[in-house]
Amino acid sequence: MDSFAGSGGQSDLARCIELSRVAVSKGEYPFGTVIALNGQVVAEAINRTIRDRDVTRHAEVIALSNAQKVISREQLRQYTIYTNIEPCAMCSYCIREAWVGRVVYAIGSPVMDGLSKWNILRDEGISDIPQIFGEVPEVVSGVLLHEAQQAWREWNPLVWQMIKLRGLLTEPSAHEVRVRLGQRRSLCHCLQILTVRSGKSRIETEAPDVNP
Ligand SMILES: [Zn+2]
Repeated sequence: MDSFAGSGGQSDLARCIELSRVAVSKGEYPFGTVIALNGQVVAEAINRTIRDRDVTRHAEVIALSNAQKVISREQLRQYTIYTNIEPCAMCSYCIREAWVGRVVYAIGSPVMDGLSKWNILRDEGISDIPQIFGEVPEVVSGVLLHEAQQAWREWNPLVWQMIKLRGLLTEPSAHEVRVRLGQRRSLCHCLQILTVRSGKSRIETEAPDVNP
């Protein structure tokens, strides 16, 4: 993976971390996404999986949906999607089909996400169908890693310790480490289990979302 060399990208990633805290304040898990070009944000979102009771409502998918209402896939080739956590397989597939040119994230997810586990983000084969999938995007990981980790630690220190012990969310350089779960589970499912176990779930009532 590439080292982070872009200018201005750190502020967009910092916004993702800020959004992850907003998500917590609204009773969601700490995920935030920004889609931007040279600091100009076209869409941003937080998870809505808890409030909508819909596992497909990931921040990346919502942001991509909002962005496509404003700009074309052809334009998205120039854009970067920023996330505090490595995009999952579902979101990575959408990123490829939306033709996003660059992906920047902070924390890696080697057990279940769309690059280090499934290699959807960097799969060259699907680019052989250019009518549907874009070129392989540039991927930059580990940006503002410690700041992103701190937001998760603040959300729930005990759950964060359990996540680290199980190797669910790690430094991107540790992608080669494989930690097997007892059965296949989505990250959100694992989070539900861990938060219930910790007795510190912060599920709250409906609250307005951030503006796209
Ligand atoms: Zn996702």
